Amino acid sequence: MQDANSQHTDSPDLQGQAGPIPQALDRGNGGQQVIVIGAGISGLCSAWFLQQQGYDVLVLEASACVGGNLQTVKRDGCQFERGPNSFMNNRPAMAELIKGAGLEQEIVPAKAAAQRRFVGKYGALVALPTNPLEGITTNIMTWPGKLRVAWEPFVGRSRTEESIAQFVTRRLGKQMFDWLIDPFISGVFAGDPHKLSVQAAVPRLYALEQQHGSLIRGALAHIKARRQATGPKLDGAMMTFKHGLHQLMTSLADQLLNPVQLNTQVESVSYSQEHGYMVRSGDAIWQAQKLVLAVPAKQVARLIEDLPTPDETQLAHAQRQLRSIYYPPVATISMAFKKQQIQHPLDGFGALFPSKENKQILGALFPSSIFSGRAQPDQHVLTVFVGGGRGSAAMQLSAAERLALVLQELDGYVGIKGQPLWSEESYWPAAIPQYEVGHLQKVAEVDQALAHLSGLYLRSNWRDGVALGDCVESAQALALQVVADDAGDDIYA
Ligand SMILES: Cc1cc2nc3c(=O)[nH]c(=O)nc-3n(C[C@H](O)[C@H](O)[C@H](O)COP(=O)(O)OP(=O)(O)OC[C@H]3O[C@@H](n4cnc5c(N)ncnc54)[C@H](O)[C@@H]3O)c2cc1C
Repeated sequence: MQDANSQHTDSPDLQGQAGPIPQALDRGNGGQQVIVIGAGISGLCSAWFLQQQGYDVLVLEASACVGGNLQTVKRDGCQFERGPNSFMNNRPAMAELIKGAGLEQEIVPAKAAAQRRFVGKYGALVALPTNPLEGITTNIMTWPGKLRVAWEPFVGRSRTEESIAQFVTRRLGKQMFDWLIDPFISGVFAGDPHKLSVQAAVPRLYALEQQHGSLIRGALAHIKARRQATGPKLDGAMMTFKHGLHQLMTSLADQLLNPVQLNTQVESVSYSQEHGYMVRSGDAIWQAQKLVLAVPAKQVARLIEDLPTPDETQLAHAQRQLRSIYYPPVATISMAFKKQQIQHPLDGFGALFPSKENKQILGALFPSSIFSGRAQPDQHVLTVFVGGGRGSAAMQLSAAERLALVLQELDGYVGIKGQPLWSEESYWPAAIPQYEVGHLQKVAEVDQALAHLSGLYLRSNWRDGVALGDCVESAQALALQVVADDAGDDIYA
């Protein structure tokens, strides 16, 4: 690998000549070198877990800062996120990462009031039930809708891959889908539940049906198992850090022994038995026996172009499959108001707007109600989401027109007087990969096409889940897989 301090060189060809990474580790496995492309949460966590296992890791990142989608902004005494807003404390891998990064004291848990979540219904915000009793008394669904949910344990399993809409309507009925699941899918994927695959997008829900024959029976079994489990309990609470989610990214990057190489857009990757993987950016070349691609699917399609293959047709097909993964555009609009400008107390996590409401806004988060220290005491900060896989006319508008539309639609639900103190739009041209029906087959075909290349690993939110916890968990699994592969042992066998 190339010396981190002499990244750019006049030599057009450094094959086999790149120097060692400074401060190489050797903690029992020879400090083997690994290149990770992409410094989003998938790449940085992969690098961190690999370093924990004694590997000597270099991360190459196209942009000027680490973190990928995780971008925290401070403005006029407020703090907001351009991308993800929080993570859920439900994954041991995340807990290990936070402890290892020394960030336990920096955690900001969500306030108790943030347990309340709203759904827009007929132009008003309705609080979602937080316990079974509220589930019975809620006015989100009518009595026939609730009775249909109660019938769920008697519904049989499906044998074919279904969309989330098909699965939920079949098991729980149309009302449950329309008023709860459709907006929930907007909140997580900014996606269209009629297109997303239940197996790929919400595998835990699908597994409940497969393992227990019923979502209700499966959920009850999980609650019982959690109560009986020994060991540290993860409470599933929403969390962030004092300086926002980006703090996790900078802390991890600071702990890497080799500084992340920023402004380094990798243009191509090749492979030879002698040199391993050769990674090029401009005139610079790095080489290592192991390579992790932690970049969006279209970038993967480009970067695998020059890799050797016994079957050109299969590789070309895998590239087409990668390019076909849809990443819809999303705009997040954050804004601050004086509290007295908003009629609604905004006393919850946020609100989601079902398709039936026929609005352009997908949802609104209330960051200053979720976490302390996000706004001045007399102010509210809100972040509104527009766009996504449902398709949205609002994405054709200018930023100023979009803001006006967002304010007008939001006003109907929360009552807004006047203009925001400030507002800032973050436009994501390719936001979140959509796991549409057939997605698992695509991923399997990509894996098959690259299976002959030892030392090549793919990690990113297009394959192992889009939630931050999924990315961290899959990064930890990657490090264990690399160790196992080195030991000539397949832990998943
Ligand atoms: C608006 C929005 C809101 C979200 N909200 C939430 C939320 O509240 N909770 C939650 O859990 N998840 C949320 N998500 C999803 C979550 O943020 C992502 O799934 C996750 O951050 C993806 O991380 P990643 O590392 O896989 O990819 P990315 O963050 O996309 O990182 C990929 C990195 O690779 C770099 N790169 C690309 N090509 C190259 C190249 N050729 N050479 C070098 N570097 C390259 C990019 O610059 C980037 O830094 C949200 C996503 C968005 C967009």
